[in-house]
Amino acid sequence: MDRSELTIRPIIGLEIHVQLATRSKMFCGCAVVFGDEPNTHVCPVCLGMPGTLPVMNRRAVELAVRTALALNCQISRFSKWDRKSYYYPDLPKNYQISQYDLPLGFDGAFDVPTNEPGGYRRVGIIRAHLEEDAGKNIHDNPNFTLVDLNRTGTPLLEIVTEPDLASAEEAYNFCVELQRLVTYLGVSEGSMQKGHMRFEPNVNVAITCDGREYRTPISEIKNLNSFRSVRAAIGYEIERQVGDWMADRDYVVGRRPKENRGWSDDRGTTEYQRSKEEAHDYRYFPDPDLVPVEIDDAWLETIRADVGELPLARQGRMARDYGLSVSDVVTILSDKATADLFEKTIVEDGDPATLTKLFIGPARKAASEKGVTIAKLPIDAKSWAELSKLHKSGGVNATTMVEMLTIALEHLYNVRQRPEDGA
Ligand code: ZN
Ligand code: MN
Repeated sequence: MDRSELTIRPIIGLEIHVQLATRSKMFCGCAVVFGDEPNTHVCPVCLGMPGTLPVMNRRAVELAVRTALALNCQISRFSKWDRKSYYYPDLPKNYQISQYDLPLGFDGAFDVPTNEPGGYRRVGIIRAHLEEDAGKNIHDNPNFTLVDLNRTGTPLLEIVTEPDLASAEEAYNFCVELQRLVTYLGVSEGSMQKGHMRFEPNVNVAITCDGREYRTPISEIKNLNSFRSVRAAIGYEIERQVGDWMADRDYVVGRRPKENRGWSDDRGTTEYQRSKEEAHDYRYFPDPDLVPVEIDDAWLETIRADVGELPLARQGRMARDYGLSVSDVVTILSDKATADLFEKTIVEDGDPATLTKLFIGPARKAASEKGVTIAKLPIDAKSWAELSKLHKSGGVNATTMVEMLTIALEHLYNVRQRPEDGA
C-alpha cells in the first residue's frame, strides 16, 4: 500500500520535569548548585543513610503551586508524599519521594499559540506534582561508572499533559511556551544547558485506511533536553510508527506493548529500550517519614497573588495599552519582575516606546552581562522614567541616552555591589 492512501493523525502528550529555583534541596538543607565538584553538596538525608529524616522545603511547595495555578490546575488542599521504589545507582535510598494519588495540581489547561495569527491550542494538564531528582551517573570511562549525588534531592515539578498535541511542531511550541511561563513566574531558571527542563513525549498515531482507524502502540521517548530534540524525535517517531504499521498490521495498541525509546541526536533516530513498566511495578506507598501537605486558604491566596495576570493575557493587554508590537512585549515579559518594573515606570510617567527601546536594547544587554534580569539592575522605576522623559522631550538623543545608561550602570556597580538574590 501507499503511504499517501493513509490519513495520519499523531496523538502526542508530554511529561515534563522542571527543576524549581530553590536555594536548598527538597528534603534537606544541602545547596542546589550546578557544576561544582561531584559529591560536595550531600548530607546523610540526601545520601539516603538509614535513620535520617527528611524535612519538606516549603518554598518548593509554593513554587509548585504557583506553577500549577498558572496552568489553571485545581489545587489539592490536602496532599501527601509517596515512595516510588526502584533500584538504580544514582538513587541511594532505592526509592524516590514523589506524589502518587494526590498531586499538588490537577485538571488544568494551558493555551499554546499556534502558527495562525491569534490561534491557540488548548492543552489539558492531567497533573503537576512535586518530587525529588536523582543523582547523575557519569559514564566517561569505559571500565567503570561514577556517581555524582549533588543533584540528588533537588526539587522537580513533574507536569503531565493530556495527549492533546497533534504535531511535532505543536509539541515544540508547548515546550517553548512552558519555558517562558516558568521563567516568567520565577519558579525555575529554565536553563536547558543546566538540564532544568527535561521532556518525555508520549507518541502514537491514529491511521485511517479504507474507512477504518488503527492506533499504533504508544511509545515514550525518554529524557530529551532540548526543544529541537523534542521536535525531531517526535517527527521521527511518527514516521517510524506509520512504517512499522504498514509492515505489520498487528503493530497496534493491545497487540503490542507500550515501549520506552531513547533518542539519539547523532543518528537522528529513536531506539527501542524496553517495554514500559506499569505503575504498580514501583510499589508506591505513602512515605511514613513525612507529614501530609495542607494548604489553607491564606497560604493559597498568598501564592495566587504571586501569580497575578498570566503572561499570555498580559502580553495582549500590554501590546494594546502601550501600542507595542507583540515581539517587543515578549522580550519585556521574559520575567514577571521586569514586566512589573516596566509598568511601574509608565506609572511614573515614563514613555512606553522609549522605554521599550531601552529595555530590549542596552538594558537587556547590561543585565545579561551581569547575569541578572533587568528588574535586578540597580535602577528604579523613577530613574528609568526620567531617562525616557529626557529623550522623549528632545533633551538627549538616543545615542546619548544609551551612553548615560552605560555610565550610570558602571558607576552604580562600582559603588554598590548588590548581592545576588535568589529564591
Ligand atoms: Zn542533603
Ligand atoms: Mn518523575
